[in-house]
Amino acid sequence: MDKPSPFFSNLKCRECGRLYPKQAIHVCDFDFGPLEAVYDYDAIRPVLTRAAIESRPHTMWRYRELLPIDGEPTVGTQVGFTPLVKADRLARALGIRELYVKNDTVNYPTLSFKDRVVSVALSRARELGFKVVACASTGNLANSVAANAASAGLKSYVLIPADLEQGKVLGSLVYGTNVIGIHGAYDQVNRLCSEIAGKYGWGFVNVNLRPYYAEGSKSMGYEICEQLGWRIPQHTVIPMASGSLLTKIHKAYGEFARLGLVENSPFAVYGAQATGCAPIAHAMKRGTDIVKPVPNPKTIAKSLAIGTPADGYYAIHAMKQTGGSAEDVTDDEVVAGIRLLAECEGIFAETAGGVTVSCAKKLIDAGKIPRDGSAVLCITGHGLKTQEAIAGKCGELRLIKPSLREFEEHVYAKDTAAA
Ligand SMILES: *Cc1c(COP(=O)(O)O)cnc(C)c1O
Ligand SMILES: [Zn+2]
Repeated sequence: MDKPSPFFSNLKCRECGRLYPKQAIHVCDFDFGPLEAVYDYDAIRPVLTRAAIESRPHTMWRYRELLPIDGEPTVGTQVGFTPLVKADRLARALGIRELYVKNDTVNYPTLSFKDRVVSVALSRARELGFKVVACASTGNLANSVAANAASAGLKSYVLIPADLEQGKVLGSLVYGTNVIGIHGAYDQVNRLCSEIAGKYGWGFVNVNLRPYYAEGSKSMGYEICEQLGWRIPQHTVIPMASGSLLTKIHKAYGEFARLGLVENSPFAVYGAQATGCAPIAHAMKRGTDIVKPVPNPKTIAKSLAIGTPADGYYAIHAMKQTGGSAEDVTDDEVVAGIRLLAECEGIFAETAGGVTVSCAKKLIDAGKIPRDGSAVLCITGHGLKTQEAIAGKCGELRLIKPSLREFEEHVYAKDTAAA
């Protein structure tokens, strides 16, 4: 048993504020409010200085006092500290003064931001003594649980909708995990997982371990601040599935300001969804915090296709409170966003990245993000995993025989004539 962390004290209900012990529980017994990790910031402040952080390895664990485990991390110790790319060509294309891309397409080991949440959840699962770990997933979480559980020697089960992209399915199977395809949408997968978690005592990273899982997303926000030279960005555009990542980037910026690691400057967070499953963005546009479920999501952005988003209500409040807003885009716009990011910055994102880029374009065009401002786009997963979405939509091979004459006739002559 590890000594309890001196910094991470309890879980706390987000509704009534009741405190709970740091166990594998995720809802309040009294009002079913979600439980969230709480910290002793006065104890953290003198320890977690800029100098201390900068002296540590380039991983998400350089902020470990703000992550909810007791001992040292044991799973996913290399995760995080992905590049923050100054995206000048994309800035010009979108018509904004300054733009950065937080590039989690190259997160280690499974090429999506989910490695952050899984690193925390599985490190905590081990501290709590779980032998079997599991998840309900739209794809990336399954990949990350499978890979990180394999390297930790934990048995794992990942449950996914049966109709996911091949890259996501093979990207779980290869690790020798148990992949269970469910005939149904994500919400049905998630409901089944709640029943299994209650009955068999497995560690479901996004069910009974959700308070720990969710905190891992904060590391993306911390890294953005540090990589910008210790400041909070004015505008951050974030893709939303359950809405958790958005709420945690909001929390991360607030914590860094509270700890004096960055100036307490104004900032806004913006949520991005695909029109075929946009329960949070649509509620935000209607001006309400009542999120209407989407029973049959229809979009190529399958990683974001959660019809009943657990953190939708809190995501809306984070956007409202900061003066941000939400947008949604069609599948054609998703493809256009993927191509624009690739052609401008050489970054190949999955469908969620296309959602984020095209929503940012709409927000800038509408004046919600000002053209003279500075923005960060959170690009959360790699395009090699969702190739179906762009197949046949970014040109074709030009086929020739292996001869110089063919090259000159069919390629060089044509291209120089066109130029
Ligand atoms: C899971 C996921 C998200 C966001 O998930 P939340 O549930 O809102 O935290 C964003 N992008 C990708 C690629 C994802 O896999
Ligand atoms: Zn409560």
